[in-house]
Amino acid sequence: MKVTIDREECTSCALCWDACPEVFEENEEDGFSQIVEKFRVDGKPDTGEVPDDLTDCATEAAESCPVEIIEVQ
Ligand code: SF4
Repeated sequence: MKVTIDREECTSCALCWDACPEVFEENEEDGFSQIVEKFRVDGKPDTGEVPDDLTDCATEAAESCPVEIIEVQ
């Protein structure tokens, strides 16, 4: 599953990384959500490829985002 985060719109509410810390985490510098390093595509913090066993978790996180900036495909 592909996951993207429109990081510039992130409000740092923490809901995504609380819901699915296996995939999302807080960037220590800007405080916005990012994909954990091991699932990043081309090292980009806003784009990830998530294994099948984490699709439910990533989807739950996307649905929890109050500003709807996490896209899962
Ligand atoms: S749930 Fe959305 S707004 Fe909140 S930290 Fe995650 S990406 Fe940012």
